[in-house]
Amino acid sequence: MTQKTLHKRHSDLANSKRQLQILSNGIFQNGDLPKFKDKIAESNQFPLKARKLEILQINVGYMCNQVCEHCHVDAGPDRKEIMTRETMQQCLDVIKKTGAHTLDFTGGAPEMNPNFRWFVDEASKAGIKDFIVRSNLTIIKSNKKYYDLPEFFKTHNIHVMSSMPHWTKGKTDKQRGEGVFAKSLAALKDLNAVGYGMPDSNLRLDLVYNPTGAFLPGNQSALEKDFKKVLLEEFGIHFHNLFAITNLPISRFLDYLIASENYEDYMYSLVEAYNPAAVQNVMCTNTLSVSWDGYLYDCDFNQMLELPVSSKVKHISEYNESLLEGRKIVISQHCYGCTAGAGSSCQGSVA
Ligand code: SF4
Ligand code: SF4
Repeated sequence: MTQKTLHKRHSDLANSKRQLQILSNGIFQNGDLPKFKDKIAESNQFPLKARKLEILQINVGYMCNQVCEHCHVDAGPDRKEIMTRETMQQCLDVIKKTGAHTLDFTGGAPEMNPNFRWFVDEASKAGIKDFIVRSNLTIIKSNKKYYDLPEFFKTHNIHVMSSMPHWTKGKTDKQRGEGVFAKSLAALKDLNAVGYGMPDSNLRLDLVYNPTGAFLPGNQSALEKDFKKVLLEEFGIHFHNLFAITNLPISRFLDYLIASENYEDYMYSLVEAYNPAAVQNVMCTNTLSVSWDGYLYDCDFNQMLELPVSSKVKHISEYNESLLEGRKIVISQHCYGCTAGAGSSCQGSVA
């Protein structure tokens, strides 16, 4: 059965307020589990504060060619929210004056924004050298207008971070849609062909693993070994590193947890796996997330929950480094997903 976005299904959970209610009620309201705020206070880490900005993560739109089961963006072909060139220009004005060294493009499928390549070209002219694109891989094979993306990525030395939930067709296609595994392998081969992911190559190609069900990821280095072995031996594919990330209990993954009656058990697992040492390295401490319409959030997850930054500055057009630095990070129970085990945000293990 083809998955539909929560928006298309007119689900209650398409409303971020409803998601926040679920995350604050029940087991957290009656005290069975501690709220995230109280948990980090145990090790004197509340309030969590932003440090110096290093990474600007820009969500250029929620449109995607896939409709994955776990998607925290509720992305899909029916989502029409797309960053305009005007908002991109406002981001470029900020890039020229901040010390941020990395631009991290996310979506949806960021490559589907018609101004994506223009944006990268202009950011490159503005002096950005470190680019990350969160690519779902299949976009490269979805239409001939995207076939040359590997060459484009190479021109700007873009670091490609690609989702790949498993090395088997069954588990990958179940989470991400029929045919995704085969197309992902074909795209990885195209990336390898231009040098991405090859041993000793500077063209970085990393894979991002996230569990296919209501469980936490296993050990990152053991998973990397398994992925490397199977992808190389069976398909001749190379990549650099694998990042294992925990699914956060929001959006379509929250919907899945509730529908499969796993929500409470999953929250118990997250709280049980809480690691105080992971708190200081969560991505919101050095990253600012910009939404398709230019609003500012502590991270992409808060963006989806419509929890804006706690600052007078709310929009990229009003950007002010001194007002944003040191701001209190807006947290809720979904944050347990970033501090479970070794910790993960969008970049795999952080501690
Ligand atoms: S998880 Fe990524 S590839 Fe899948 S629907 Fe969401 S944005 Fe698209
Ligand atoms: S969900 Fe966002 S705000 Fe919460 S800890 Fe993770 S990165 Fe920080």
